[in-house]
Amino acid sequence: MAEETIFSKIIRREIPADILYQDELVTAFRDIAPQAPTHILIIPNHLIATANDVKASDEKALGRMMTVAAKLADEAGIADDGYRLIMNCNKHGGQEVYHIHMHLLGGKPLGTNAEPRRMIINSDYFPLTEVATRFVNQLAQCRRLGLSVKEASEHHVLIELPYSQDIIGYPDTSVIHGGVITTLIDTACGTAVVCAILKKYQSLELSPTLDLRVDYMKPAEPLKPVYAFAECYRLSSSVAFTRAIAYQESIDEPIAHAVGSFMRISPEMVGEEFRQALMGNLPESQHD
Ligand code: AMP
Repeated sequence: MAEETIFSKIIRREIPADILYQDELVTAFRDIAPQAPTHILIIPNHLIATANDVKASDEKALGRMMTVAAKLADEAGIADDGYRLIMNCNKHGGQEVYHIHMHLLGGKPLGTNAEPRRMIINSDYFPLTEVATRFVNQLAQCRRLGLSVKEASEHHVLIELPYSQDIIGYPDTSVIHGGVITTLIDTACGTAVVCAILKKYQSLELSPTLDLRVDYMKPAEPLKPVYAFAECYRLSSSVAFTRAIAYQESIDEPIAHAVGSFMRISPEMVGEEFRQALMGNLPESQHD
């Protein structure tokens, strides 16, 4: 049975959304991060996780999604100029919410290439966010930098570095010091390792950085936060392998790319106080 997503709450009106249409089969609402002047999502009221899960009994709701798309396009005044209907499936299709949905995009020429991927944060739907947050909060340098975990799962970690005067490396331009970006990336990769191991082995390991290579592509723009997206893409018995991207507005416009390897150390090496702080039995350390 697929897990409910934020979209089920929107259908039941438990969280706010700009709902444009609803009947017994489908609901349509404005996308929270519009990629075009008109960007509406049309979804079936019952949960179908992906296009792979569609059954013959869903045909009525899926057909209704099409007629509602045509009606909403007409109401939005974009029917004659044209628009695009998109359904993404799974990771390679770029699906982020696992409740099937049709994007209705229009109001401008859409071109032929995919739009840059944008920043959407869905912390509530990534159950390891809390433990990852506790891990990061244990590290004095991370607290000083104000790093915060936005999302964490066994597959990825997304961490935000807020902009502040204290991290300026070049006063003439207000550009952030490269060392701070390296710390952000190192933390994101290390946290991705903790999450991957926790999920795979149900155990807590602390993995020191063996090697981190960071390729800088451009300086971070002042006054904006920087994000690091990291994944632990392979775990061997002794080494965890990670990769990461640091960016601001869009992951397609990176500040830096990185690869890092981390040493795996037996779970017995983790101190009891640290373990409890992470697993929630003790308050987090307040020491700097
Ligand atoms: P996809 O990448 O095809 O899974 O698209 C998911 C879409 O859902 C994205 O365009 C998000 O901007 C949108 N989205 C996520 N959360 C919300 C929300 N709470 N309200 C409206 N749209 C949302």
